[in-house]
Amino acid sequence: MKQLAPDTVRLLSSSQVITSVVNVLKELMENSLDAGALCIDIKLENYGLDRIEVRDNGHGIKAADTPVMAKRHFTSKICSHEDLQHLETYGFRGEALGSICAVAEVAVTTKTVEDNISTQYTLNFKGEVVSQKPSHLGQGTTVSILKLFKNIPVRRQYYSSVKKCKEELKKVQDLLMAYAIIKPVLRLTLVHNKVVVWQKAKTPDLRSSLLATLGLDVIFLFHNQHYHHSYFIQILLDGFFPKPGASYTSTSSSSPDKTFIFVNNRPVHHKDIMKLLRQHYTAQYPDDTARNRYPILVLKITVSASSVDVNLTPDKTQVLLHDKVAMKLRLSQKFDWIVSQIPAELGCNSF
Ligand code: ADP
Ligand code: MG
Repeated sequence: MKQLAPDTVRLLSSSQVITSVVNVLKELMENSLDAGALCIDIKLENYGLDRIEVRDNGHGIKAADTPVMAKRHFTSKICSHEDLQHLETYGFRGEALGSICAVAEVAVTTKTVEDNISTQYTLNFKGEVVSQKPSHLGQGTTVSILKLFKNIPVRRQYYSSVKKCKEELKKVQDLLMAYAIIKPVLRLTLVHNKVVVWQKAKTPDLRSSLLATLGLDVIFLFHNQHYHHSYFIQILLDGFFPKPGASYTSTSSSSPDKTFIFVNNRPVHHKDIMKLLRQHYTAQYPDDTARNRYPILVLKITVSASSVDVNLTPDKTQVLLHDKVAMKLRLSQKFDWIVSQIPAELGCNSF
């Protein structure tokens, strides 16, 4: 038996953290949002395989931190595991930048308010800064990633079909939509091969960010409900749910691409909540077409940071809720309550 070489270990673990174009964008978006960015511009070339660039106007990276910014397990966000009890940032593991360096060519340009000019840093496979030069960019951070998965041929080959690439671009748009909804003040642009694919302007609140992302025809079908529960644990629910009679599934929704669930502002896939939502809507409309479809809705759940474990999967899209069963019960009570609140005259049987 032999111990694996450090470079092999690095590649093996990094390629588990960084699995796809959409996953890279999720990590970079979250870094920008953690840096307080109000404006994020994303540029992709060849569906992100040749180039991914994420530019933000956040607080930037302090010069003193730049030598370790992409070293694995270096983070400015937590100091110990206990800090997860009051986590307010998306990131906390110090893994993303370092892992991306192991599977692509990475450069980071950054400027804080203290800096006179911005500096572009080129990083190597290990996340070390190998060169730096002055740049003209303003305050904030720009991460450029070239040749994603250049050293993982099978993963690159996975994207060799246009169909797969288009699916990935759709996933990118769905991901950006989720952040656009939950961060109303954020201005977002997605450019692919120099063409603006999608953009969203700054909006004042959740309702207007929904309008900007999902469109008037969808928002018109929504019913907004708030709910605050503070008996055992504090739970704040803010939801936009389909009115009865509304065509409540997106046209091709055999996947939950327009069912947006957020836990403490984090877009998540929560199997139990999703099951509950589907049961609710399938029962409400006992039509066969509803069975394999997902409702278009937005459910924003806010609980104390200590009630959530976000460290379940490397991509942080799953969360474990404290006292899950109680939460589930309260959610189902809530859904019954929502239905009872909907005025009868709005209802109709077809959708
Ligand atoms: P994490 O987000 O878990 O801390 P990352 O590897 O994603 O780990 O980022 C490492 C560190 O680099 C962050 O903790 C942060 O200090 C800094 N950083 C990365 N991206 C940005 C950005 N866009 N703006 C400001 N700082 C950033
Ligand atoms: Mg991060």
